[in-house]
Amino acid sequence: MNYKNITVAGSGVLGSQIAYQTAFKGFYVSVYDINDEALDRAKERITKLKLRYQEDLGATEEEVNAAFNRMSFNSDLAKTVAKADLVIEAIPEVVAIKTDFYKELGKVAPKQTIFATNSSTLLPSQFALATGRPEKFLALHFANEIWLNNTAEVMKHPGTDMEVFDEVITFAKAIGMVALPLQKEQPGYILNSLLVPFLEAAQILLLNGISDPETIDKTWMIATGAPKGPFAILDVVGITTAYNIASAKAQAGIQGFDKLANLLKTEYIDKGKIGNGVGEGFYKYPDPYYLDPEFLVG
Ligand code: NAD
Repeated sequence: MNYKNITVAGSGVLGSQIAYQTAFKGFYVSVYDINDEALDRAKERITKLKLRYQEDLGATEEEVNAAFNRMSFNSDLAKTVAKADLVIEAIPEVVAIKTDFYKELGKVAPKQTIFATNSSTLLPSQFALATGRPEKFLALHFANEIWLNNTAEVMKHPGTDMEVFDEVITFAKAIGMVALPLQKEQPGYILNSLLVPFLEAAQILLLNGISDPETIDKTWMIATGAPKGPFAILDVVGITTAYNIASAKAQAGIQGFDKLANLLKTEYIDKGKIGNGVGEGFYKYPDPYYLDPEFLVG
């Protein structure tokens, strides 16, 4: 692996984090977005990230500034990727936007450049042809708050070259991630293949009146030793995301999900209880009951 110059395309929530983490670990990062306003917003996000790296990781001011100085920002795609060994794409989760982007990228990027998508729900094979270089394309999926939640799911599509797969795994480790290889395509990768059904099972127990969130979480925590139960996890994910997933399933005609979407909306979202970020979801923050020592014995 000989990557030095990395481009991150799309500098929103995840793109800013991926770009900054990569620069923090010593790579030169060119950031691409559609216009200067989007790039200015990215710079603001990164200014906040610098503080988080100091608070959460104990990074020095010198280190966080040096990372920023390894970054450049550009809204001209060809110029941004001119020296890129790897382009990590973190643009909106919309098939048409990503397809157009890969067609253009495939034309202007150097022939040897590797492309990776951070898409959460779309499979790399959907875009492999558009890239014009399917063997040099795969998924590299990060989690939100990348500097703390440092998973990198690296997923092949059927046409990805094995050497490229191995190189990207090495790169992921070099930027401080725990690399988690997926040899085949899987919607939801590993994490969401486990987490989404688990969280849904808990919500259905609640919907059917079998038990309440605290009892369900307590069961899971005591029986498995896990630090959080499904409803505590849902507070971190956000009730709006759970609602969006339930609504999409309801629209696809899957039985029971219309009732679940309705419950989440009327009992939680409409009451402003959308998760730990706003101080209340299934629990009240900053001191949720599930962290109280009494919770597990009572
Ligand atoms: P976001 O909306 O915060 O950012 C998207 C960025 O892409 C914006 O800055 C926007 O200006 C830019 N953009 C729009 N069209 C573009 C184009 N044609 N070319 C280049 N840039 C363009 O989105 P996000 O939450 O950062 O998500 C981006 C990708 O990362 C999605 O594929 C998503 O599935 C994935 N992802 C998100 C999360 C998350 O928690 N937010 C976690 C893992 C993966």
